[in-house]
Amino acid sequence: MDFNLTEVQQDFMNLARDFGEKRLAPTIMERDHQGIYDDALIAELLSLGITGAYFEEKYGGAGDDGGDVLSYILAVEELAKYDAGVSITLSATVSLCANPIWQFGTEEQKEKFLVPLVEGTKLGAFGLTEPNAGTDASGQQTVAVKNDDGTYTLNGSKIFITNGGHADIYIVFAMTDKSKGNHGITAFILEDGMPGFTYGKKEDKMGIHTSVTMELVFQDVKVPAENMLGEEGKGFKIAMMTLDGGRIGVGAQALGIAEAALADAVEYSKQRVQFGKPLCKFQSVSFKLADMKMQIEAARNLVYKAACLKQEGKPFTVEAAIAKRVASDVAMRVSTEAVQIFGGYGYSEEYPAARHMRDAKITQIYEGTNEVQLMVTAGALLR
Ligand SMILES: Cc1cc2nc3c(=O)[nH]c(=O)nc-3n(C[C@H](O)[C@H](O)[C@H](O)COP(=O)(O)OP(=O)(O)OC[C@H]3O[C@@H](n4cnc5c(N)ncnc54)[C@H](O)[C@@H]3O)c2cc1C
Repeated sequence: MDFNLTEVQQDFMNLARDFGEKRLAPTIMERDHQGIYDDALIAELLSLGITGAYFEEKYGGAGDDGGDVLSYILAVEELAKYDAGVSITLSATVSLCANPIWQFGTEEQKEKFLVPLVEGTKLGAFGLTEPNAGTDASGQQTVAVKNDDGTYTLNGSKIFITNGGHADIYIVFAMTDKSKGNHGITAFILEDGMPGFTYGKKEDKMGIHTSVTMELVFQDVKVPAENMLGEEGKGFKIAMMTLDGGRIGVGAQALGIAEAALADAVEYSKQRVQFGKPLCKFQSVSFKLADMKMQIEAARNLVYKAACLKQEGKPFTVEAAIAKRVASDVAMRVSTEAVQIFGGYGYSEEYPAARHMRDAKITQIYEGTNEVQLMVTAGALLR
């Protein structure tokens, strides 16, 4: 495994960094405090080509020589340094919506749904979580009943859906046969505007305020048979495999948040003078900064390794679980230490330290809580 970045990987990283510096950084405080999801800014981000980093040219992607999974992950990490909310908006579109269509879709589905997601003209989302089906996703209560004409009628709801209400394309999971448990769950591709498909409550969140999290409501939504993703009854497997990839994106998001928190803390420690010298001159502070750096570097290796395994087509479920858990725990610890180094100013929303800490927390929760990552890893260890 070699993390000497290729020119192309560096290009993707620089592209995201440039967008972060010029387009995200100037307004992040305002957008975060006011909870602004900026459609125009997202459209601009989607137009950059990051969404196509690892997809083939025939689907509008960068192609074999144009990029890979690590290129995409590097871009997510860079974006998260400037705006963690925007990074998950992108990651939900690519990892959770485009990827399963790419992996499990028919050529017709790829033509119709994957291409616009990859080209960045449409936004995607992934609807698995329900009020009574969180960690235990097998408890799906959304049902899809097959009609005589081959269509399905969907009824139920999904909560906490990233990009809900703004996305054009949704991967939605529903029970087609309750008696079969996990094997009775089927994945469908839904489109914004389908009759009976509406949006409910918008979440008022602790962090990632620049992303939107919304309830999806299905009331007799008629879904054509050609919108079924994969085979009937294979939805649970599709959901789990999709989340494997998503976890690398969350790991990258966590890395970006941690790196931003560290950079801010380093800068602040050089400027803030107490007892006649800058904070960084106190060994307890400089060692704290060094320890934050060490944790970040360790997490980076795990995240990049999982990305490389996915790119190589090798198994990466456990590596993604490990990377997601370690990176998100590092983000939480590092961002909390950064607040400590900022002292009272760290607790104030006038400085970015508080935002990093609020944003870090979600990386321990979504796309499988960190307890789930332990279950995945323990399961593999004890197989
Ligand atoms: C901002 C945000 C965005 C989200 N985006 C999406 C999205 O786009 N699509 C989507 O489908 N979902 C999304 N989610 C949902 C998210 O994935 C779930 O919240 C998460 O999976 C946990 O489910 P839950 O909230 O129901 O918690 P619960 O499942 O009720 O868990 C509560 C606690 O119990 C622990 N726990 C549960 N079972 C066990 C067990 N067997 N052993 C040990 N501990 C256990 C959990 O780890 C957790 O700490 C999002 C959530 C948030 C907050």
